[in-house]
Amino acid sequence: MHIELTEMLKCPEAHREEMLVLSTGEVRDRMVRSGIIGCPVCHKEYPIALGIVNFRRSKERVASDMTSGPRPVYRPPSPLPSADAAKLQALLELSGPGGFVVLIGSAVRQAPRLSSLMEGIHFVGINAPPDMEEQQTLSLLYANERVPLRTAIARGVVVGADLATSPWLVEAHRVLLRGRRFVVENEEPELPIGLVQLAAEHGLWVGEKR
Ligand SMILES: [Zn+2]
Repeated sequence: MHIELTEMLKCPEAHREEMLVLSTGEVRDRMVRSGIIGCPVCHKEYPIALGIVNFRRSKERVASDMTSGPRPVYRPPSPLPSADAAKLQALLELSGPGGFVVLIGSAVRQAPRLSSLMEGIHFVGINAPPDMEEQQTLSLLYANERVPLRTAIARGVVVGADLATSPWLVEAHRVLLRGRRFVVENEEPELPIGLVQLAAEHGLWVGEKR
């Protein structure tokens, strides 16, 4: 995890948002490889191992070693494994450096291509496929249905087809800055009430936070 992401983190427990406290172990090029994130409100501690912050509860942490998080509930019939990175950039209307873009589930695979198109943006991958590792432009977090990030901090969000379910879409919407967009890699996602659709085509659903 990039050290500057610390102030964007949020405890996944249902209590007020407060800045979490980082105790660093190993840090390399501003990437925290090991350490502990502590919550000053509920006093829970979340470990950082191999650069990945684990916000899952300990029971689920063990289970997650055998499976890669929640089971896919729906696979789109699209022949493409994932959206084209340039298309995603256009749909998210991202231009100019700075800030954070959140990628959820299989969408984390877009990070290397997106970061080559968009310099100066830091990507935050939630529940990445298990073979992925962090990079200088990509921090990885594991979580259970709550994105462990503060409200309204992301310039864009992409939700992968494997996690295109209502709880994740609610969270994608929550972390997004107002007026910014999010893309779901599923043309007909399980939509919670109150999300505004801009477009749905070619296996992608595009929404905006009003
Ligand atoms: Zn807490």
